Amino acid sequence: MTTAFLDHMRATLAEIEADGLFKRERMIATPQSTRVQVGGREVINLCANNYLGLANHPALIDAAIAAMQAHGFGMASVRFICGTQELHRALEARLAKYLDMDDSILFAACFDANGALFEPLLGREDAVVSDALNHASIIDGIRLCKARRYRYANSDMDDLEAQLRAARADGARHIMIATDGVFSMDGYLARLPEIRALAERYDALVMVDDCHATGFMGPQGRGTPAHLGVRADILTGTLGKALGGALGGYIAGPQPVIDLLRQRARPYLFSNALPPAIVAAGIAALDIVEGADDLRAQLFDNAAYWRAGLAAAGFDLLPGEHPIIPVMLYDAHKAQAMAARLFDLGVYVSPFFFPVVPKGQARIRTQMNAALTRKDLDQALAAFAQAGHDTGILS
Ligand SMILES: *Cc1c(COP(=O)(O)O)cnc(C)c1O
Repeated sequence: MTTAFLDHMRATLAEIEADGLFKRERMIATPQSTRVQVGGREVINLCANNYLGLANHPALIDAAIAAMQAHGFGMASVRFICGTQELHRALEARLAKYLDMDDSILFAACFDANGALFEPLLGREDAVVSDALNHASIIDGIRLCKARRYRYANSDMDDLEAQLRAARADGARHIMIATDGVFSMDGYLARLPEIRALAERYDALVMVDDCHATGFMGPQGRGTPAHLGVRADILTGTLGKALGGALGGYIAGPQPVIDLLRQRARPYLFSNALPPAIVAAGIAALDIVEGADDLRAQLFDNAAYWRAGLAAAGFDLLPGEHPIIPVMLYDAHKAQAMAARLFDLGVYVSPFFFPVVPKGQARIRTQMNAALTRKDLDQALAAFAQAGHDTGILS
C-alpha cells in the first residue's frame, strides 16, 4: 500500500472532523433498553428504533436460545444450496400472512432487501419513480437496476404526477413508484392514498419500505399502508426495529415477484442464510406483535405525552403522529451542544445534521418506545428544559 493512499484517507478523515461531521460511537455496557449504561452512568435512551421495547424481551431470547439448541448456530450456506430450514419458510409464510401478501423472502437486512429488489424486476424498458427522501438502501438498489430513473420532491404529489407523466411519455413498459412508508428524519408518513390513486391513473406499481412502521402503525401494526387504508404492491421491511431489533430484512409481495426474486436477487443468491436463532426470534416477535394492542397504545400514548411536554417547554417540533419526534434546532452546532448537555443530564439522544438532513435543518431526533415509563419521560422532559436553557436555545 502506498503512503499516498493512506495520506489521502487521513486527509479525508481530517476534513470530516473539521466540518464537525465526525461520528463517534458511544459504548453501551448493557442490553438495549429504555435505560442503558454508558461510561459507567445510567442514561435514558431516546434514540433506539426499539418502538415496542422488544429488543431485550425474554420471549425472544428464549426462542433464540431454543432454536440455537435445536437447529444449530449457523447455516454455512446461502439459502438455495443447503441453507433453508423449515424455520426460514415458516417465518416467510408468517410475515406474508401478517402483511396480507402472497409470500415473502428473507434477506440479511432490509438494506439487502432494497438492494435486491429493483434489478431483477425492472429492465431498461421500465421506469422507477422514487421519492427524493427515500432511504439510502432504496437509492442504492435503484442505482443497481437498468430502469430509467425519475425522482420527485419529498411527498410532492404534483411532482410525482409530472414524473409519472414523463415516464409514460418516454415509453416505459412498467413503472414502479418507490417510497418509504415513514420518512425517518421527520416522522412524516408517505401520502399513500394519493400515491395509490396516481399509480392507478398511470398504471404503476407501488413499493413501500415500511421499516419505521411495521409492528406498530395501523391495525395489528401491519404498517403504513394498513394505517392509511391502502394497499402496497410490494413491501420491504426489517426485523431490526420494532420486530425485535436484531437483524434481518424481507420483501413481501405477489407470488411471481417473490418467486423471481428467489431465482435472481443477488443478495439472496450470494449471501448467507439467516441463522436459526434470528429466524425463530422473528417468529416469536410476530407472536407478540400481532396481539400487542396494549404496547401500541402505550407507544402512542407516550408519543402524545412526550410531544405535548416538549411543546409546553417551548421547543420547536415537526408536526405529526409518529413516535419519531424531531426537535428542530436548525444549526448543527446547537444540535450537537444540546445533545452533549442532555447526555450530561442523563438523556441519550442523537443530533442529526448535514448530510443526513438538509443544511440549516439540524435537529435532535427523539424516538418513543412502549417501555418508557412516565417517570422516564418526566425526567427526560426536565433534562430537555434544563439543557434548552443551559445552551441558550430556550429563552
Ligand atoms: C433502517 C432502515 C433500513 C435498513 O434496515 P436494516 O434491516 O437495518 O438493513 C432500510 N430502509 C429504511 C427506511 C430504514 O429505516
